[in-house]
Amino acid sequence: MDCKKVGALILNVRKEKNMTQKEVATRLNISDKTVSKWERGLGCPDVSLLGDLSNILGVNIEKILMGDLEEKETDGGNMRQIKFYVCNSCNNVVTSTSEAEISCCGRKLDSLVVKPEDDAHNITVTDMDNEYYVTIDHPMNKNHYISFVAFVGFDKVLLTKLYPEQNAELFIPKMHRGKLYAYCSQHGLWVKGI
Ligand SMILES: [Zn+2]
Ligand SMILES: [Zn+2]
Repeated sequence: MDCKKVGALILNVRKEKNMTQKEVATRLNISDKTVSKWERGLGCPDVSLLGDLSNILGVNIEKILMGDLEEKETDGGNMRQIKFYVCNSCNNVVTSTSEAEISCCGRKLDSLVVKPEDDAHNITVTDMDNEYYVTIDHPMNKNHYISFVAFVGFDKVLLTKLYPEQNAELFIPKMHRGKLYAYCSQHGLWVKGI
């Protein structure tokens, strides 16, 4: 552990959270002098405190140890770089407007790789009056099914969960052009432009 870096990280995050050294110290059951020492790089937190410190600061233990929060360029806020993440343990679906560090069920999630629709994952869009009727000719059983469909426009994401034993079909309100993503529990993420 590089105490200088760790100390600087604690100082920055503490200030971001508008906490005093005393508040951090009280929650850790230590003296505020100790927190002050860390922040000046004169000592590193004891390993036994890292779990609580991580909760208080809202920073991963791993990041505290590295003393580094890499920050990325501000993202423009549009959906062009949208990423999808799925947790294989609990089926949690997470979207992000750019690459993010996401973990679920104790594991780090990698963003899904998007593939253009193929014959087995063909997304059909029928233009109705005010809606699009979307169907995917695909099995819908417990082991192999389409688990969500997302329409991504310039400034919005509309995500619909699907479940085994129902049909792989849904209606979405007609919007400006965008992309339709369908996630297959076995074969990953497929995309089609509309
Ligand atoms: Zn999970
Ligand atoms: Zn499939």
